[in-house]
Amino acid sequence: MHEDYNFPERYQGSNELLLLLCDIAGLEDGFKPASIFYAQKLRLPQTMSLLRDIGYAVEVADFVHAGLSGRTVPSEGDHGSFFPLYVSRYRHVAKELKLLYEFLNSGSKDTAAAAQRIGSLLGYPECCTRFVLSSPKFDKYTNEVKNDTEYQALCRYLALKEGKHISYLLNNFNLHMPRVMGFNVCNYSCEKAEEFSLQVLDYVKRNRMNLQLIKKELCQAVLHFSFGVSISFEEVQHKGVSISYKSPKLSQALPLLRAFEEGNSFEITQDSVLVFKEGEEIGCVPISKEFDAIFVEFE
Ligand SMILES: [Zn+2]
Repeated sequence: MHEDYNFPERYQGSNELLLLLCDIAGLEDGFKPASIFYAQKLRLPQTMSLLRDIGYAVEVADFVHAGLSGRTVPSEGDHGSFFPLYVSRYRHVAKELKLLYEFLNSGSKDTAAAAQRIGSLLGYPECCTRFVLSSPKFDKYTNEVKNDTEYQALCRYLALKEGKHISYLLNNFNLHMPRVMGFNVCNYSCEKAEEFSLQVLDYVKRNRMNLQLIKKELCQAVLHFSFGVSISFEEVQHKGVSISYKSPKLSQALPLLRAFEEGNSFEITQDSVLVFKEGEEIGCVPISKEFDAIFVEFE
């Protein structure tokens, strides 16, 4: 999707498709009053007329999305920039969403109510939106978080501390690999969020897509790094502090992570992730924050 995200095609395709399906399923089945799609400037007219032809109201944002980091820049944009499209069955809902985002980007300080409303228009569970907006939990880390990618990692890290188990349905740790939802959850056993995911998967099933493959990928253990990079493993085993693994899949081909392809176990320490091959250290990925390297297994 973006030139600066040099990840393998096979992951890009499936994740893009699944997240798109989530937005389409939500609109079609009615569990999302509105969805946000992104269209490149060049394709804006075709995308809008396609959506309108199938019965949707569409509003175009007054700003462009400069990459997956969530950075926004004022209107115009170049050919490569993506314009958010606010889409709903109902014109007033699409318009309201556009107005809410304008307000959010206006620099106003008191945006919590607007953000909560955006969450509900996008069909996100109230508890999950409230959690992300609950500043006391995040305050401790305010100075540590440098960008949106780190903020996303922090949201996941804090949500991991809540809840009883970690449901594979809510696996949103892979930014560039399959995931069902595009939102942050309040905890990884949130029933409302699970309900949301099941509705997406039900749509997937009804449309005869490969549900088994999607489930298999969602169930894989993930080593998630704060810089928008993660590795998933088909098989992991714990031996004390060491975690042995098979079939690592790197979400981005970063040289820093290459050792995982060679190695067969890793350990997370205070300040690094050490990679081993048959017990010999072959790589070291430094970490500086407690939410930098999170290892997650799903139920
Ligand atoms: Zn929730």
